[in-house]
Amino acid sequence: MINLILFGPPGSGKGTQAEKLVEKYELLHISTGDLFRYEMGNNTPLGQEAKSYIEKGELVPDEVTVGMLRNKVEANLDVEGYIFDGFPRTVPQADALDNLLAENGNEVSLLLMLDVPDDELVKRLLLRGKTSGRADDTDESIIRNRIEVYKSETTPVFDYYAAKGKAAKVYGVGSIEEIFGRLCDEIDSHA
Ligand code: ADP
Repeated sequence: MINLILFGPPGSGKGTQAEKLVEKYELLHISTGDLFRYEMGNNTPLGQEAKSYIEKGELVPDEVTVGMLRNKVEANLDVEGYIFDGFPRTVPQADALDNLLAENGNEVSLLLMLDVPDDELVKRLLLRGKTSGRADDTDESIIRNRIEVYKSETTPVFDYYAAKGKAAKVYGVGSIEEIFGRLCDEIDSHA
């Protein structure tokens, strides 16, 4: 099994690259952002709770996020591997993921971080906001808050996997194909 974590700040291109990786390595793509948007779209209790955090650019509490992720993984145990996108975003989430995979005799193979400068992120997200219909992509102060939350709460997850020799950083500026090539090189040499 190959279990990848696609990591990086908002706007770093995780969704775009995840799609390509899924096709090449035949993995199941699990995006917590997509799962929350699905719940919000259906106005479920989980969606309503998540919305109050997401619209401020804050993280949804770990127990809510981990519960949702666990359901998704447990409903899809019969796969070649997973690509986690937008998860884990905190160290407790990383612990929860390791435990969940270990229950089925699996583990994280590699975390791949897309490294992109802040100003480029803001530019990309504002552009995405014009067409995506995502309220969290239209306001620059909410975007900056998401980037700050990423730096304070999420980057420790990189160090957590780096300490286990399971993290790689890839430069996330260039053409989609160039960046994809860099990611594949890391996967093929580590995973
Ligand atoms: P981005 O494009 O900003 O990386 P996502 O689509 O992955 O965003 O997620 C959108 C929002 O959903 C985040 O800003 C956050 O509020 C919430 N969210 C997504 N994943 C998580 C998570 N693992 N833990 C807590 N909140 C999350």
